[in-house]
Amino acid sequence: MYEIVVIGAGVAGLSAAIEASRMGASVLVVEKKKEIGSPLKCGGFIPKPHELPLLPNIKDVLKYPDEVVINTITTQRIIAPNGTSKEFKVDGDVVDRRAFDQHLASVAISQGTEIWLSSTFLSLTKKGVVVRRGGEREEVEADVVVGADGAYSKVGREAGLLKDYNENDVSSCKLEVVEGGEIEEDVLEMYFSSQFSPGGYGWVIPHSERKANIGVGVRPPSTNVGKKLRMFKNKSPASERIAKSQPIATGGGNVPVGLPPKTCSGNVLLAGDSASHVLSTSGSGIPLAMLSGKLAGMCGVEFVSEGKPLCRYDKMWRKEMMMAIERTYKIRKMCDRLMSSDVRLNLMIKVLTPTQMKAIMQGKFLLLDKV
Ligand SMILES: Cc1cc2nc3c(=O)[nH]c(=O)nc-3n(C[C@H](O)[C@H](O)[C@H](O)COP(=O)(O)OP(=O)(O)OC[C@H]3O[C@@H](n4cnc5c(N)ncnc54)[C@H](O)[C@@H]3O)c2cc1C
Repeated sequence: MYEIVVIGAGVAGLSAAIEASRMGASVLVVEKKKEIGSPLKCGGFIPKPHELPLLPNIKDVLKYPDEVVINTITTQRIIAPNGTSKEFKVDGDVVDRRAFDQHLASVAISQGTEIWLSSTFLSLTKKGVVVRRGGEREEVEADVVVGADGAYSKVGREAGLLKDYNENDVSSCKLEVVEGGEIEEDVLEMYFSSQFSPGGYGWVIPHSERKANIGVGVRPPSTNVGKKLRMFKNKSPASERIAKSQPIATGGGNVPVGLPPKTCSGNVLLAGDSASHVLSTSGSGIPLAMLSGKLAGMCGVEFVSEGKPLCRYDKMWRKEMMMAIERTYKIRKMCDRLMSSDVRLNLMIKVLTPTQMKAIMQGKFLLLDKV
């Protein structure tokens, strides 16, 4: 019997656990993987809070120790299919996602959270959840269940909050951490192409001059995303510099880039990717997962200990993040038509100024926000 049971030990789930256990609740985190943060399924790029103007309170949660930072980024470059590019200043960190998630887990544990690894959430019951652990089905009682189990959330579907995604509202990604090649240490690159990254982009996120996280995201989700990554490495404007690099790790995953569903039903809350808390222009989800996870943990405890309505969580995260999510979603929808043709992509990257590009990434509307 726990007050709060969290499904998923990613950024959202661990942020929820940290907040709930800090407030004195009994907390269990259930994670299907045997090691937190592994295998890798993230680029690890985190813009500094001042680069996220539509998330004004993100600075209160976007905190992590220097030990998890691998590199700092000063420039973001946007590359058109024809190889021309524009760039703008950006202030951000590249984090080691495994170390990042393990740091969150150790904070949660130090505050009293219990974490079950190699344990899979199976279903919701009236009293809590059913989990498969060590080959056995176990019933766990919970006052509140936080679904932080990522894209295609099983908790969300069990609670009737999540239905199938519109196929254009989820991106499938494949990544490699590579060594060798010629990497610009402080430049994050985004390569656009209807060939190797339809509906998404290819990225080079540097770890150092000789090491980077590279990958592609495509929409609608596709099983041949591995082939697209090979095309990105061998037949793109990035090829000259990365074709000969060697993979030392591989990974991938799905990014939900649609509008969030309702995130509260009965005693269940959804946070992070399970609730599509992602900026659609970049696929960035770490800052939002930290914020929504913290709010879910807090609302869960205030429901249990003070009887406050649990579903105020839905209103609270919308107040903090909905503008950023909705704006980046609308911009992404507007750009979808342009992204289906290299000619249009070349033209768009030619006519936009670097300042306008940065504003679009951030979710600003060019005319409305007078960029
Ligand atoms: C390839 C790729 C690159 C990305 N790059 C960036 C980036 O550079 N910057 C950025 O900000 N965002 C990036 N994102 C998005 C970011 O990774 C997510 O938004 C973020 O991880 C969301 O955290 P989360 O805790 O909601 O979900 P997750 O990190 O996905 O965690 C969910 C956890 O739930 C567990 N789980 C799932 N089902 C069950 C179950 N049935 N039982 C028990 N446990 C379960 C999973 O094993 C997982 O550990 C990227 C995403 C992908 C796929």
